[in-house]
Amino acid sequence: MKRLLITGMILMSLPVVAQQPLADSVISEEAAREILGYLASDQLKGRSNGRPERYEAAAYLAQQFQQAGLKPLYGQKSLLIPFFPQTITEDGPIPIPQADIVLWNGDFLQTDHFEFFLTDAAAYTDKSLGSFEVIALDSLDSGLLRRYAASPGGDLLLWAKKPFSDKNKLPETWTLPPNGIQRNVLIVVHDNAPKTMVVQADPDYYHTLLFNVVGVLPGDSLPGEIVAYTSHYDHMGVDPGERRDSILNGANDNASGTTAVVLLARYFSQLKNNSRTLLFCAFAGEEWGLLGSREFMKEINPKAVVAGINIEMIGIAQYGKKKVFITGQDQSPLGKTLARSLSAAGLKVIRERDPERQLYSRSDNYSFVKAGVPAHTIMSSDDEDRCYHQPCDEVKRINFEHFIAVVKAVAAINEFKIQK
Ligand SMILES: [Zn+2]
Repeated sequence: MKRLLITGMILMSLPVVAQQPLADSVISEEAAREILGYLASDQLKGRSNGRPERYEAAAYLAQQFQQAGLKPLYGQKSLLIPFFPQTITEDGPIPIPQADIVLWNGDFLQTDHFEFFLTDAAAYTDKSLGSFEVIALDSLDSGLLRRYAASPGGDLLLWAKKPFSDKNKLPETWTLPPNGIQRNVLIVVHDNAPKTMVVQADPDYYHTLLFNVVGVLPGDSLPGEIVAYTSHYDHMGVDPGERRDSILNGANDNASGTTAVVLLARYFSQLKNNSRTLLFCAFAGEEWGLLGSREFMKEINPKAVVAGINIEMIGIAQYGKKKVFITGQDQSPLGKTLARSLSAAGLKVIRERDPERQLYSRSDNYSFVKAGVPAHTIMSSDDEDRCYHQPCDEVKRINFEHFIAVVKAVAAINEFKIQK
């Protein structure tokens, strides 16, 4: 069984200080309607991972986080963190598509003769030979990145000085350094030494980029311990087979959870009493298999995260007003803590209707769980809702009174009840 708990127990009990007036003014129906209404509007065309509107959604959320006063994650330049929607099969990851065009002594290299690994694709500019440190290699193997790119440095060209052949070709897959690639690395197989070289971006490559939106509110007395509030903002886009209404707006799934995370960011940054560091994450790529949260786990040290609180589909009161459930509630002590806290805040916490549906492993909390972090999803509706992944998942169905009650209860979760 997977490790769900970090060893070592700290249980601090401090009095709960009611912050009702602030919650009432920040977590309001008016604010919720504005944010959720925009995210689920036809303008964003269903926030598909494959459509350009995903940038609009990501940029809007980054702006919301910035206005709330959140800072970029340590080591990131921006609240927007780009990643590639990389598919992982049973045999391991499918290599990321070729990013670039390489002109080598005036000739275009064939795409299977090189591979370019970038630490920050969004900040990419065209490069020439002069910007690279060049290391000539006698052979190629899948461990090159571990050996040469595990620590920071300038652009690196690893040149395998042999004619390209079945024997001298790039490995199918690469072993990444434990903390990811720390410098840009271009790997080339060619029998002529480089005299001139130009590396140009292939725009198609950038069209596939997705963005997680992540903001930080540093803690004052326990800044090294993190509580993460998460949701996914992507949805299913447009279904051309639907004639009357082709846009899958995803108001409940998951503009509702994303709106909750924005409101929580506003609330906690005005409250200004968080001991632990709070992370607010809006993930892309969830509908394609939790891709955004999986990538995000590479950006942080999971051991620093004491709790992942994921929010999904809280705009519909499928099991009754103010009724929520916690996916995989018994899988960690955090599940029970969340249940107790939400009950104390006035919600009725019911049992997950049908654990066979595996909701626990079907949302972004599970990427945290796989990294050893206790994490659950708070929901008030599930895939039994008649508009789940249908064009009728629209703003007009959202029960805002219920939604606000749930968000306020999440805001009232006492961080000191969360054990490390
Ligand atoms: Zn969802």
